[in-house]
Amino acid sequence: MDLYEYQAKELFAKHGVNTQAGIVVTDSAAAGKAAAELNATVVVKAQVKTGGRGKAGGVKLATSAAEAQEKAEAILGLDIKGHIVHKVLVTPAADIESEYYVSFLLDRSNRTFLAMASVEGGMEIEEVAVTKPEALAKVHIDPLIGVTAEVAATIVDAAKFPADVRDGIIEMLQKLWDVFVKEDATLVEVNPLVKTPAGDVMALDGKVTLDDNADFRHPDHAALVDLAAENGLELRAKEKGLNYVKLDGSVGIIGNGAGLVMSTLDVVAYAGENFGGVRPANFLDIGGGASAQVMADGLEIVLGDPDVKSVFVNVFGGITACDAVANGIVQAIAMLTQRGEQVSKPIVCRLDGNNAAAGRAILAEANLAVIRVAETMDDAAAAVAELASK
Ligand code: GDP
Ligand code: MN
Repeated sequence: MDLYEYQAKELFAKHGVNTQAGIVVTDSAAAGKAAAELNATVVVKAQVKTGGRGKAGGVKLATSAAEAQEKAEAILGLDIKGHIVHKVLVTPAADIESEYYVSFLLDRSNRTFLAMASVEGGMEIEEVAVTKPEALAKVHIDPLIGVTAEVAATIVDAAKFPADVRDGIIEMLQKLWDVFVKEDATLVEVNPLVKTPAGDVMALDGKVTLDDNADFRHPDHAALVDLAAENGLELRAKEKGLNYVKLDGSVGIIGNGAGLVMSTLDVVAYAGENFGGVRPANFLDIGGGASAQVMADGLEIVLGDPDVKSVFVNVFGGITACDAVANGIVQAIAMLTQRGEQVSKPIVCRLDGNNAAAGRAILAEANLAVIRVAETMDDAAAAVAELASK
């Protein structure tokens, strides 16, 4: 889960990182009030989960409450790279002498953690990495040692931070590492990390990605989920414990086993080429041992997606035999119909593996208008893509 800047800064403050929390508001009048309360020059900052807000006009200084209200008015509703601004953070403005960049991240390809740091902060770090790679220091972090004062000093020296901020940055890096480890983050990034004219080191921006797999260790992280910003279908699927990811095509996909579902996405996209570029609408793995209830939940989510024109149920019977899955499909449709939901989108089923013939017989016997049975995965993909293109 990616956090908003204000949430990242709350976590920073919790771990003693020097930062300004500020006040989050959703309308411009409240922004004016917040500025009056802070009684200082403020920055009004768009809260969207994407970078480059400054360049897009989403970060503005204001010297009075009236000006803060005016700036908030301009920022609220902005579209920044496809993210509409619904919230702004009003925070006391810091004086900036220098802007730096620091981050910790999970370096999957090297199976370790990585620290990155640069004295060329403020601008987009991707640009620095390309145009001036020597200005971006990269230091691997041994997870068993972490970021001790010695390790932090190595990072500071590799990035060639000036001597007067050396101690401040060493301390900052250790605290940011605390955030990274104690909150189970996969990314903690500060750009810009600034030096103020008084010589203080301060985090003016914050980007944090939390590891959802560690949620069970952090009951407090549930409060960070922004329900309004999440995809409604994904949210409902999560509540039902389904492994669902919304995609942008029109063929609903249900399968058992992540590998099978992924190859189903490929096969459908390939078959879809012949029908004007039809693509999968979602990833949904109902796992092994799919009961009628799980199948009903899955079908309900997929059929409830207005983008879906046709559905492909692709099952390879293993521990759960195909006849059980077929019964699940039939019962699921009965359950949905009983609940008053109209099941009218065509559902192409391909059953293979354990008890496949018995499963197909059950579907044939049920004689449901929306169900079509395909022999092979390729046949099914072609059929479902054609149905979606109509
Ligand atoms: P981003 O563009 O989405 O990364 O947003 P940032 O939070 O990094 O803000 C963009 C830029 O606005 C920073 O690089 C700073 O130059 C400027 N800025 C942000 N906060 C302050 C502040 O408190 N004081 C001043 N003077 N400038 C700020
Ligand atoms: Mn930034």
